[in-house]
Amino acid sequence: MIKPLSLYVHIPFCVHHCAYCDFNTYVEPAQSVLVKETVEAIGLDIAKASQERVAGQVLSERPLATVYFGGGTPTFLSIEQLTEIMAAIRSHFHLLPDAEISSEANPTSADVAKFAAMRALGFNRLSIGVQAFDNGLLTALDRFHTTTEAVHAYQAARAAGFTNVNLDLMFGLPNQTLPLWKASLEQAIQLAPEHLSLYALTIEPGTRFERLHVGGRLVLPDDETVVTMYEYAQQRLTQAGYIHYEISNFSLPGFACRHNLVYWHNEEYLGVGPGAVSYLGGWRWKRERLPKRYVQKVKNGENLCVEEECLAPPEALDETLLLGLRLRAGVSLHALRDRFGLDPLERYKRGIEKLVQQGLLEQHGDILRVSDRALPITDTVIVELLASAEA
Ligand code: SF4
Repeated sequence: MIKPLSLYVHIPFCVHHCAYCDFNTYVEPAQSVLVKETVEAIGLDIAKASQERVAGQVLSERPLATVYFGGGTPTFLSIEQLTEIMAAIRSHFHLLPDAEISSEANPTSADVAKFAAMRALGFNRLSIGVQAFDNGLLTALDRFHTTTEAVHAYQAARAAGFTNVNLDLMFGLPNQTLPLWKASLEQAIQLAPEHLSLYALTIEPGTRFERLHVGGRLVLPDDETVVTMYEYAQQRLTQAGYIHYEISNFSLPGFACRHNLVYWHNEEYLGVGPGAVSYLGGWRWKRERLPKRYVQKVKNGENLCVEEECLAPPEALDETLLLGLRLRAGVSLHALRDRFGLDPLERYKRGIEKLVQQGLLEQHGDILRVSDRALPITDTVIVELLASAEA
């Protein structure tokens, strides 16, 4: 049976660079030559990548089960530009009839007409970067939109016919208190999106937020408050009918993000666009990050790869475990054994025994998962588990 494929499309442009963001994105005038050339290059990139052969099979022969436009801000592009990219996808790949086709969107970069045009192009899932329903917090976060604009974007998505909408919210923000976080959550619950992603603010190296933080000019909630915010959200959203299926993600039944599940199951995907990562045939590689260089290389037919690594079974098992333990369903030990030919119970014997004893991991028959109480420290638990790997 032919294995379906997932496709990620990176749109590396935004109208404004938020001070906390370290994504591969650049501020450009909407109709600049670079934006136009990047869109053309993405189309050519898709065409060329579709003809690549992985494990003896041409990629275009594999139907697409999920497509995800991320960034940056995909809705920064005009509908004509989004149409150009979707046309390239449709002419070089076959989309499964029930393919999930998602796009990230910023509250200020789309209205009902644009969302309706995106629906007509085949997009059936939207992820809106709301971050907070509080203008003071949005300003402190250096976001470019208001609470009213976020609500309007959500209503526009509904009016355009989107029945699968995610809202991104952030916690641990400058000046954010527990009551302010609760208020944002309540507003989100009231809107009733199918999916909610909750992210704790992290201070990334090289960002303006890092400089402010180092200079003592960011007032952030303490670690204990951040953990309380997370635990409160987990309890409140569960009560509101959401399933907590991944450490940062909640959905109504049947609305887990299928594209992101591909990442968490460490399955194969193709990434196109500047800086996009692909994972195919046991290799992971990254494309040229800078849009100008990416465009040039695509035009010249040069190799786009700037970094690559081959994940052999021990590392691939580590990675699959690392990603899979983010899921509340945990990982199937026998599925890992069958896939990599290595027994996780032997490879991580010391770590599993110790962490289970400490109540941080749980083993129920074939399933290994992070315990409820260890959720806020999932990363630490996973690092300790992987460090216990037998050579
Ligand atoms: S809109 Fe999103 S991708 Fe763009 S700069 Fe802000 S956080 Fe980064």
